[in-house]
Amino acid sequence: MARASSGRGSGWAKRPRVSFDEQRLPASDSACVRPAASRRAELFPSATDDEWSDWRWQMRHAVRSGDQLAKVLSLTPDERAGVAETAAIFRLGISPYYLSLIDPAHPFCPVRMQAVPVKAEARVRPGELRDPLGEDPRRPVEAIVHKYPDRVLFLALDTCSVYCRHCTRRRITKGGEAELNKAELDKGLEYVRTHPQVRDVLLSGGDPFLLSDERLEQILAPLRAIPHVEMIRIGTRVPVCLPMRVTARLATLLRRHAPLFVVTHFNHPKEITPEARRACELLVDHGVPVENQAVLMRRLNSDARIIKELNHECLKMRVRPYYLHQMDVAEGLEHLRTPLQAGVQIIEQLRGWTTGLAVPHLAVDLPGGGGKVTLQPDYVLERRPTETILRSYRGQAYAYPEPEERDCSCPYDEIWRSR
Ligand code: SF4
Repeated sequence: MARASSGRGSGWAKRPRVSFDEQRLPASDSACVRPAASRRAELFPSATDDEWSDWRWQMRHAVRSGDQLAKVLSLTPDERAGVAETAAIFRLGISPYYLSLIDPAHPFCPVRMQAVPVKAEARVRPGELRDPLGEDPRRPVEAIVHKYPDRVLFLALDTCSVYCRHCTRRRITKGGEAELNKAELDKGLEYVRTHPQVRDVLLSGGDPFLLSDERLEQILAPLRAIPHVEMIRIGTRVPVCLPMRVTARLATLLRRHAPLFVVTHFNHPKEITPEARRACELLVDHGVPVENQAVLMRRLNSDARIIKELNHECLKMRVRPYYLHQMDVAEGLEHLRTPLQAGVQIIEQLRGWTTGLAVPHLAVDLPGGGGKVTLQPDYVLERRPTETILRSYRGQAYAYPEPEERDCSCPYDEIWRSR
């Protein structure tokens, strides 16, 4: 029987009460990092451990309306307005597990900020896009986005375990669109089959891990049978928001379709709980590599110390920090966007100061569909004909001598390519 609680007990450090001018909470709440177990006991006192660790029970008991949310969390005026004003814009949904991680006393709790809407989310700023990555014009069939030369995005479904307030694909996950049916999934598979340049398929949505093992197999097996598909990736927030969905059976199924990479989405170290850790380690133990793509969000994780801790915690559970995403220019998300330079400064505060594996690529997905580019601090001070002057991560200048020979062609490549 899996334990649902964090197991951290009373050793967690209590933080002093924080007061807020704009977002006051009832005086009875006190701001502190509380063990999820105590919140679970308050919120779902009759849930047995078996129920709590059953992902379908979690989905059945998810909070899905403003009224339900207001019963379990003292909402700030800003959040109350956010819930009301976003109701027609984007789904609300929070699994009991993720709800138990929310600090009931702090509106800037990173879990809370990702799950509970605020008023700013209902406001569309000039330049914000409904389809920020220009995916819709590149959807040859309903289930496929084909934007890059050698890979496609396969949209398997439109539902999630938690509807992230920073979701930039909310035009798909907002609800109201029919779930992709079998005919559309078959058309997606046929598209991949008939496009030999597609060597990499990223299964996403929505969250593909909300499909049953059987339905997942019905997509993965035919994909794996396509000779030119070299690798499959699955984008999922399940290890973060619904870790009980990761079972040995699921991990075994995924391993059968190797090379298959799970790409998950932890944004703050608070999300790395014993349950999340167990889910990630189960996947890795079964031979399924797990990568993390975090999104940089203003006042949530926009600090090098937080990103460093997040990445260290990821590495401790053998999850490789891969991308740190600049927030897309999507409708209603300006309040979470950071200036581009903030991300560059974070990378600068990581590079050299911690393990290279803990330094992600800072990616900007260009608005309108230009694809990803990466940004990094500029370490070049001066380019000379025979040497380049670079600065170290500590700011000291070093000369890198350029070689005399500059021909970089590879003579053996002709033989290698003709094998
Ligand atoms: S899990 Fe992904 S697709 Fe679903 S709401 Fe969150 S960010 Fe959007």
